[in-house]
Amino acid sequence: MNNPTLKQSYYIQTYGCQMNVSDTEVMEAVLEQMNFTKASCIEEAGIILFNTCCVRENADLKVYGRLGELKENKRKNPELIIGVVGCLSQKDGANFLKRFPYIDLVLGTYKHGRLPYLIQEVIAGKGPIIELSERKVREEEELPVKRENEISAYVPISYGCDQFCAFCIVPFVRGKQRSRHPKTLMKEVQNLAESGYKEITLLGQNVNTYGFDLGPEHSFDELLKLLDGLDGIERIRYITSHPKFFPLDLVDTIARLKKVCEHFHLPLQSGDDEVLKRMRRGYTYNDYKKLVHRIRALIPHASITTDLIVGFPGETEEQFQKTLEAYQEIQFDQAFMFSYSPREKTRAAAFENQIPELEKKERLHRLIACSNKIVEKKNKDQVGTIQEILVEGFSKKNANRLTGRTRTNRIVVFDGSQEMIGTLQKIHIENGYSWGLEGNAAVSSYA
Ligand code: SF4
Repeated sequence: MNNPTLKQSYYIQTYGCQMNVSDTEVMEAVLEQMNFTKASCIEEAGIILFNTCCVRENADLKVYGRLGELKENKRKNPELIIGVVGCLSQKDGANFLKRFPYIDLVLGTYKHGRLPYLIQEVIAGKGPIIELSERKVREEEELPVKRENEISAYVPISYGCDQFCAFCIVPFVRGKQRSRHPKTLMKEVQNLAESGYKEITLLGQNVNTYGFDLGPEHSFDELLKLLDGLDGIERIRYITSHPKFFPLDLVDTIARLKKVCEHFHLPLQSGDDEVLKRMRRGYTYNDYKKLVHRIRALIPHASITTDLIVGFPGETEEQFQKTLEAYQEIQFDQAFMFSYSPREKTRAAAFENQIPELEKKERLHRLIACSNKIVEKKNKDQVGTIQEILVEGFSKKNANRLTGRTRTNRIVVFDGSQEMIGTLQKIHIENGYSWGLEGNAAVSSYA
């Protein structure tokens, strides 16, 4: 670096989904190749990056609030480099600089590999820089990754999305779907297995459409079969699935594959067909139930989790009731529940009959209350069973206990020792709560 007063450290604050966490892992590796080290806190950093999310208005506001606070840091230390990257940067672009003129870099979702060059340009006094254009090549495959977790790794299999659900901004900020080639993925997962990783989570906005852009011989089904055959990795997870693209025979494949976990995250979004149609989701509640039925017929102990939106424009009380009824009928094991947040450019933002905030909140509270009861009951149903846990580390709430997950993605906290971390253990489940399970008495270890 040619600025001796710039602190050689970085801090990345990540907002939003696992794809952003994965992008941060790439940016950290890129910065470390430039000899920057990770700062222990934001005040210690010479470069601060906010890796942003824009799926809901709340996410925008959080980033704006934090950026406002950094004005004082920049005044005290003009050498400090402040950058925003990710989805909100892609959405708001130059507006960031109008609102926060002390920002040095606005980088969208496409060109993390250009980070070294862009930072050099900022250091050379050529900032502020805005870089938002779409890449023409699959540049992501060439980038390094710095993973903090040594047991479980995120592996992006595709970027972008072609679906344009009426409420969703993702296709506007992450562009068309670009699937990574199976050979690249096999190599990456092989390397992870050789480095001792036990679990991978395949990431995509819509994993089920994996390969649609590569050719007819490529599919998510085929990819799972290939990865399941690799030695070393014990568990394969994937997020997020789209019910419209989840053929029943994919359930058959998953039921046969040993390493693919018995956890299906299938965003239903609404229990009402008319709302689903206006959301452009491409399935009915009945289609969804057929899928659930197939899963439970083939894998009775599978967990099924979901995403639900309340207060979509025009949603009536009766239509909301259908979502509550769907929750009760399907008995989801867990759900991420949101009140609808209009996002610019999306179809639904222009719909009439936007639901007042108070009403959305009230519906959300009712749905969460319904969910909590069912989730707790389903966790209590696990009491007395013996579960295979991949031990991830010490519990954040109780440093004397270990934590890990079942294959069905339930959190389990239990007594154990340091050497269990990174291994599979059989744990006897003794209590169930809405947050997860408590267990004890490891019966014997697997590995
Ligand atoms: S499938 Fe729909 S909800 Fe999911 S990222 Fe694509 S547009 Fe958004």
